[in-house]
Amino acid sequence: MNNERTTMNRKPVFTVPARTILNLQSAFQHKLLCDGPTFSAGSACAYSCAFCYVPSMMNRSAHANVLTESKTRFEDAVIRRQSAAKILHDQLHFSDGRPRFNDPKDTRVVYASPLVDVAANMELVRETIELCRIILESTHWQIRLLSKSNLLPVIARELSDFRSRMIYGVSTGTLDDGVAQAIEAGTPRVSKRIKSLHTLQDEGYRTYGMICPSLPQDDYFAFSREMCRAIRTEKCEHIWCEVINVRGQSMNRTVDALRQAGYDAVAAQLAATSNRSIWEAYARETFLAHTQFIPPQKLRFLQYVTPETRNWWTQQTYRGAILL
Ligand code: SF4
Repeated sequence: MNNERTTMNRKPVFTVPARTILNLQSAFQHKLLCDGPTFSAGSACAYSCAFCYVPSMMNRSAHANVLTESKTRFEDAVIRRQSAAKILHDQLHFSDGRPRFNDPKDTRVVYASPLVDVAANMELVRETIELCRIILESTHWQIRLLSKSNLLPVIARELSDFRSRMIYGVSTGTLDDGVAQAIEAGTPRVSKRIKSLHTLQDEGYRTYGMICPSLPQDDYFAFSREMCRAIRTEKCEHIWCEVINVRGQSMNRTVDALRQAGYDAVAAQLAATSNRSIWEAYARETFLAHTQFIPPQKLRFLQYVTPETRNWWTQQTYRGAILL
């Protein structure tokens, strides 16, 4: 194990041994983000979004053991997997070197990353390019990348010889640079992210939208209209949308971050959604607004349901609701 105290985006970097980079059977298939496979070269992100669900999911994983000794909180660390490229190559090939997945009809979509941002700085951009190239040269798969950075065009240009198999998306739940900076520590401004999405679209790359996680709004219709205009719905293949979900301390952290940045009214609106019926109304209003601006064949609205709410959401699947 290599615990060199290098830093990345002002966080200490821990490099851990790993058995896999590629997960062939992820739950992300249900969200329609991929056809099962995902890959990740890291276990803790260089960014620090208050609403991030990864710390609650991963802070008891074996990869997080490395943090105990140095008394570092999961959200304050970057965890990278050692020899990521070699491990991925080995997962995609038999021991005699033949590719395992070289059927031209196997064009499934692989998604990255379920755990970290794939382009949070130039070092990670280079790593992502290397990993994508291994997949692209060993399979006929398509790759969906998601980032909160403005660096995806760098990856796209480097992999432009595979442009028909790459799909790029930037995620944001707000167009307000100040709100985003409050709850997505370390990420580039939303305006820069949107500009990078436009660059990808103008250069003819495949793109998708990720309006996520969106906060409670005074006017959901206006919110969706402005968001869809910004990401250019007509140029996106699909648009995923989701409201904020409670995972571990994520909701409290987000409310606190908004308050600390002076967004008291937004924080109060979000805090009120801890009441289950208010949260449900917030989710439904967000969904209904998006149905006005996003065609059903493009909308992929992710919604956690309960036995009480399942029926209403099931009736919305024809408009783009995906029940979780
Ligand atoms: S960019 Fe994604 S993975 Fe990274 S901290 Fe933010 S929500 Fe978590």
